[in-house]
Amino acid sequence: ADIAMYEAKKNGKGNYRFFQPHFRDAVLQKLNSEIDIRRAIEHDEFEMHYQPRVDISTMQASSLEALVRWNHPDRGLVSPLEFIPLAEATGLILPLGELIIQKVCRQISEWSTHGNLLLPVSINVSPRQFNESDILFLFRSNLERHGLNPKLVQIEITESVMMQESSRSLDMLPALRDMGIKLCLDDFGTGYSSLSQLQKIQFDVLKIDRSFTSEVEKPEGRALIASMVTMAQALGLKVVAEGVETSGQLQILRELGCDEAQGYYFSKPVPAAKLPGIAADLRRQDRTATG
Ligand code: C2E
Ligand code: MG
Ligand code: MG
Ligand code: MG
Repeated sequence: ADIAMYEAKKNGKGNYRFFQPHFRDAVLQKLNSEIDIRRAIEHDEFEMHYQPRVDISTMQASSLEALVRWNHPDRGLVSPLEFIPLAEATGLILPLGELIIQKVCRQISEWSTHGNLLLPVSINVSPRQFNESDILFLFRSNLERHGLNPKLVQIEITESVMMQESSRSLDMLPALRDMGIKLCLDDFGTGYSSLSQLQKIQFDVLKIDRSFTSEVEKPEGRALIASMVTMAQALGLKVVAEGVETSGQLQILRELGCDEAQGYYFSKPVPAAKLPGIAADLRRQDRTATG
């Protein structure tokens, strides 16, 4: 029924479409995918990859973003773009989101006991997780289980989380921040009423969406990012450019005073086991960039 609703919403009110064969196929396909996601949660087929965020002035990794992948038995690694929207529509994001918090906290705890790489990790959290799960309890209990410092965990949310007027997230976000968890506003610039939302919640980090970064070498794109950096810094936020792919982009971001950068130029998201190698690569790039 959830899936039928999802399709019906997507297609507006033309309910007769429900009886069209291609529509039924789409529903069946989504139903199959829903069953597939459920099974994948039970069989532990989801794994986290990590992508560094790099401090532009030191060229050192300052934190990591956790990004989920589905290690599908037939299809190999499946992108979250393929299953997160369906998980959100069906509510499966609730068990999946809980699993992701558990996995990331366990990973941070492993890093802290082996002591080789201890950086804060940011976790993407969907709107439904604020409204329909006890997000405070989830973070508190997982931090406690591993004895983790809350400073090691950050949360990434998009502007859509704050769009619903009655959203519980408006209460939850300050409470999470009081626990010591940093709040990052993700995909900044792609939502509506960005500026008024920014006054509602005290964020720590503003992540400029990749669609702006990719234009930074053009004069208008540069002007847009310059104004975002100025605004973020006036509000006391750290500013991160997402999707940095070239040294040319990085150079301009540095000139504009952007604090951090994240993107394929430094590293794609990789499994935890590959991260120490990445730290070494960043140091190599640092030498080529500065000398
Ligand atoms: P996001 O949180 O904005 O994550 C950034 C996306 O940009 C990631 O895609 C990352 O791999 C990709 N990216 C990073 N650098 C570059 C670059 O230089 N060039 C290009 N072309 N892409 C780059 P990914 O991993 O496919 O994730 C897509 C989206 O899926 C995420 O966007 C986020 O909204 C969602 N997502 C991923 N993992 C999770 C999760 O654990 N929970 C939830 N709720 N959503 C997640
Ligand atoms: Mg993110
Ligand atoms: Mg983003
Ligand atoms: Mg995104």
